[in-house]
Amino acid sequence: MDLFGLLSQYDYGAVHVGREPASGMQCIVAIHDTRLGPAIGGCRFLSYADEREAFIDALRLARGMTYKAALANLPHGGGKTVMLRPQRLFDRAAMFRAFGRFLEGLSGRYYTAEDSGTGIEDMEVVRSVTKYVVGTGGGSGDPSPFTALGVRRGIEACVRIKLGRTSLEGIHVAVQGVGHVGYHLCRELSGQGATLSVADVDPLKAERAQREFGANVVPIERIFDVECDVLAPCALGSALNDQTIPRLRCMVVAGAANNQLAEPRHGDDLHFRGILYAPDYAINAGGLINVALELEGYNADKARERTMKVYDTIHEIADRSRLSLTPTYRVADLLVEEKLAQVTSKPK
Ligand code: NAD
Repeated sequence: MDLFGLLSQYDYGAVHVGREPASGMQCIVAIHDTRLGPAIGGCRFLSYADEREAFIDALRLARGMTYKAALANLPHGGGKTVMLRPQRLFDRAAMFRAFGRFLEGLSGRYYTAEDSGTGIEDMEVVRSVTKYVVGTGGGSGDPSPFTALGVRRGIEACVRIKLGRTSLEGIHVAVQGVGHVGYHLCRELSGQGATLSVADVDPLKAERAQREFGANVVPIERIFDVECDVLAPCALGSALNDQTIPRLRCMVVAGAANNQLAEPRHGDDLHFRGILYAPDYAINAGGLINVALELEGYNADKARERTMKVYDTIHEIADRSRLSLTPTYRVADLLVEEKLAQVTSKPK
């Protein structure tokens, strides 16, 4: 593995690699940037094809967290942990305790949280040996209602800019995936008078949205063809790709899913087609805003109030995009880079 080449490619000064032989714990803690404050980001516990793949995943995801936290105006940088899941039997609690001790040694430069392959119980184990963990016992609870609130606010900003409408009354939103966030998003949108089309691979989830919010259920492969005002991808990544973009019949794409653009050039494609795309990491920050409040003393009203500001972030991105003729995903990155450049005097 070309270690230093990777550090340079992903813009890192250092990466922490930990190992504890007794439990078999092996982790990569990537702290991308701490200029705005201690890094924050989840801990993945997955099997990887090889160490290089795990290393790159940690580098890529932690850098993404820097951008998400900065754009949400949080006093945090980006970090992420990849813990390697062994193929043999292992003592899970012992591994997470060892991981917690490793974090303690990083002296608060990074706060971890649950992520793919980890759960609240694992984070409780981490908390038993270090305070550098959020999302357990700190009061913030399920992040998805906050993520959904932020997405609704982002949709409102897009609708204001693209359709000149100050309310969602009668706005038709097609929601792909009505799981944790998608379900709460439907509740938010129908509360504002929007009409809904939904699709989910799990028919029970789609039916629940139909029953509770009067949503029109469409087959999963047809969600990109729905003639609507807004498409809200709330399922998996790469929803916006060469196959789906030419089919879109909407003016706005704004949803919760991470990594919605299969490749950056798909953001350019949306821009040139006149479709306003709300950058995923800008619009889906509500859950992070909510959990980060644990470090100040959690307060649900404050979490709501801050999440409501996703409106301003998306509005600013869309305004700048229009004025500079630059795709929104690039504008979002530039906003973060400007913000970080203002604090370059602090150590990375
Ligand atoms: P989830 O697993 O609860 O929901 C995803 C839903 O999408 C499921 O109901 C699933 O059945 C459905 N689905 C999967 N493939 C589909 C397809 N091809 N067509 C239609 N439906 C499909 O996950 P979630 O927590 O709601 O997160 C949704 C997305 O938002 C993910 O990309 C996640 O990374 C992102 N996100 C979530 C949060 C959060 O607070 N949970 C925060 C930020 C970003």
